[in-house]
Amino acid sequence: MRYSKYFIPTYKEVPSDAEIISHQLMIRAGMIRKLTSGIYTYLPAGLRSIKKMENIIREEMNRAGAIEVLMPAVQPGELWQESGRWDYYGRELLRFKDRHNRDVCFGPTHEEVITDLVRREIHSYKQMPINLYQIQTKFRDEIRPRFGLMRGREFIMKDAYSFDVDEESANRSYEIMHEAYTKIFQRCGLRFRAVEADTGSIGGSYSHEFMVLADTGEDQTINCVNCPYAANLERAEVKTPHVPPDMKSGNMNTLESVDTPGIKTIEELTSFLNISPDQLIKTLIFVADDDVVAALVRGDHELNEVKLKNFLGAQTVELADVSLVEETTGAPMGFAGPIGLKARMVADNAIRGMKNFVTGGNRKDVHIKNVNIGRDFNVENFGDLRTISPHDTCPRCGGEIQFGRGIEVGHIFKLGIKYSQALKAVFLDEQGKEKPIIMGCYGIGVGRTVAAAIEQNHDKDGIIFPIPISPFEVTILPLQMHETTVIETAERIYAELLDHDIDVLLDDRDERAGVKFKDADLLGTPVRVIVGLKGVKKGQLEIKMRAESNSINVPAKDASAIIREKLKALYDSLK
Ligand code: ATP
Ligand code: MG
Repeated sequence: MRYSKYFIPTYKEVPSDAEIISHQLMIRAGMIRKLTSGIYTYLPAGLRSIKKMENIIREEMNRAGAIEVLMPAVQPGELWQESGRWDYYGRELLRFKDRHNRDVCFGPTHEEVITDLVRREIHSYKQMPINLYQIQTKFRDEIRPRFGLMRGREFIMKDAYSFDVDEESANRSYEIMHEAYTKIFQRCGLRFRAVEADTGSIGGSYSHEFMVLADTGEDQTINCVNCPYAANLERAEVKTPHVPPDMKSGNMNTLESVDTPGIKTIEELTSFLNISPDQLIKTLIFVADDDVVAALVRGDHELNEVKLKNFLGAQTVELADVSLVEETTGAPMGFAGPIGLKARMVADNAIRGMKNFVTGGNRKDVHIKNVNIGRDFNVENFGDLRTISPHDTCPRCGGEIQFGRGIEVGHIFKLGIKYSQALKAVFLDEQGKEKPIIMGCYGIGVGRTVAAAIEQNHDKDGIIFPIPISPFEVTILPLQMHETTVIETAERIYAELLDHDIDVLLDDRDERAGVKFKDADLLGTPVRVIVGLKGVKKGQLEIKMRAESNSINVPAKDASAIIREKLKALYDSLK
């Protein structure tokens, strides 16, 4: 590609609405442009990266035995009503009406459509296992679109769906995808980790997220220092309900109301009563679907809404607003307590066995001391309802845990029969018995992965692209565009590299060397070839790797072969 005839509009300035580095660099390097909130045009350089990413995914999916299809983006509402998701998918689902006033939506995911296809076409155990995938545009009307391609509203996803006759075969399909994903992200040069995850609105029983490790990631993760356990923070199990030693035994003391005027926060309360936060119980009021539920956690613990939702088997869980808190507790926000509360009550495991603790008094400016379960109130169920904390240990081996942040680039789920049951996708087994098909689903965010790669690979001057997803493999910079020898050398190498099918960008613009260097740094092509008058006179040119600070001089006549060796080494390092 000749730069002068191409379209890479670069910016010096950092765009004001781009908060994270990958978003800033994708705009500045001329890869993407925003049309409106969460919706982007891929410019030629950005599209090249996206296409390369798609091809890596395609190769590994095909290698894993998955078969490519392409499903429609617009889906009939009826199918979503059949699966039951029309009513609870929420406002992320972009819904509209067609000219016949029928409900339609723009697909945020394709479980319904693929299950509809499969229930029509697959009837026998002989047709399975099968895994169908597509690379396609999705729409999710995200509440907070941000970070460029990381969290768009319109974005490209690879989604695959497996269909199996039994659990064992379904587990194998899941493992095959787990391995394919590992290959895909390794080939992109990413530092990542697969973590256990919640299944969210896609549903199903079991899942892993592939997290690219980055401080700017929206997801929090934990992993064990000792064993392979790793999980999304919202999912990480808490094993040991830690009960403070002085709370385990002893008598139940007499209840005591304490006036706590103007005290709102846990810190204020603990210092006022001269107790530690683990002697206190927080009572949080939630609306779970249509029910009011009180959830109790210890003062030093965080209630985990995802765990609460799963524990209650609810579709949605939301903190109650001020008026509902007042209505339920009879007191303003901040004074809720379990005694006499008219709501379903659930509690975190850590509360089991606590004695003589402090709670809100369900009256303004009142707390109660020496509260005890059983004597003063009853809990309907105990469960693992809190977020793991730095004081906890690994739920598997008891080892030390580490906290980190990540960007979720891929997500694999065991769906079981959730969709096949709802949509009646059944088959006849070897004995002629009708059974529901067992499903799995597997997504990768194509643009998000490219953005995550930039988030991990950049410096102050720009992107340092991992070669497999770099728009170009080599950039040639002729420094003096009015010197025939310079141009001839650059053109010769350009032609030789093109002959070897290398993605090469020849910066033939009549621009100052400084401008060319800056743009080359910004776009982050892994190998740069500098053709300058001084060197050319000595039969030499310079090769500089984007990831290294030093350059080497090589004989111009050997340059093409040396460049190809360098490229091979880069690809080999990612195998
Ligand atoms: P998140 O928790 O980040 O919203 P999700 O759990 O909703 O993601 P999935 O439904 O599992 O995502 O979608 C599969 C993949 O699609 C994700 O792993 C991610 O890489 C990508 N993805 C999801 N939402 C977006 C988005 N708004 N913009 C870009 N990519 C996305
Ligand atoms: Mg989402």
